[in-house]
Amino acid sequence: MKAIIFGAPGAGKGTYSTRMQNQLGVDVIAMGDIFRESVKQNTELGKKVKSYVEKGALVPDEVVLEVLKDRLKKVPKGKGFLLDGFPRTIAQAESLQSIAKIDVILMLDVPDQIIIERLTSRRLCKSCGAVYNIRFLKPKVEGKCDKCGGELYQRSDDNEAVIRNRLQVYKTQTEPLVEYYRKKNTPFIVNVTKSVDQPPEPMVEHMMAELKKMGLA
Ligand SMILES: [Zn+2]
Repeated sequence: MKAIIFGAPGAGKGTYSTRMQNQLGVDVIAMGDIFRESVKQNTELGKKVKSYVEKGALVPDEVVLEVLKDRLKKVPKGKGFLLDGFPRTIAQAESLQSIAKIDVILMLDVPDQIIIERLTSRRLCKSCGAVYNIRFLKPKVEGKCDKCGGELYQRSDDNEAVIRNRLQVYKTQTEPLVEYYRKKNTPFIVNVTKSVDQPPEPMVEHMMAELKKMGLA
């Protein structure tokens, strides 16, 4: 299976990608993580990425593609992949087309209000990065991490104005891509979230069932 996952920030892409990875054995390729990791390890790529980020510029397509090609080479033969955070533009989608044919798009459709509720109640552990939610994934002791006892905090950009802005950016970016893949007749599996505390399992099952029908699972 060669797939792309689309979903707004806060739609739960990480959660679903991990489940797909576990159930299908696909390689999840999250561009953001690759960039962050390479900056942290100060690799050649990391230095390049950092120079753009520091200028407040987007990492140019040719660099992103170089990274992607390199990462795709590491996908074991016969194993599929799930792309997260790529493509972001039509130009990137066109380039991707020349490297790999995408079988299916997984689409997470989450109403803005649910994302805002989810993200404004999110808390993270200062020590280990574990994620909690003060509404439906509460720590056992208020303000403390269950795993390591670390202090929980709220990310400064998890506030409504910033989230709304991120959602707008996502929509502007993604709508043309959705249209692009619709025109190419790439199949979509759309998952609609209806409540803020909806558990992921039924949606994972739905996706698996649809993938089986397509012969991809
Ligand atoms: Zn912790």
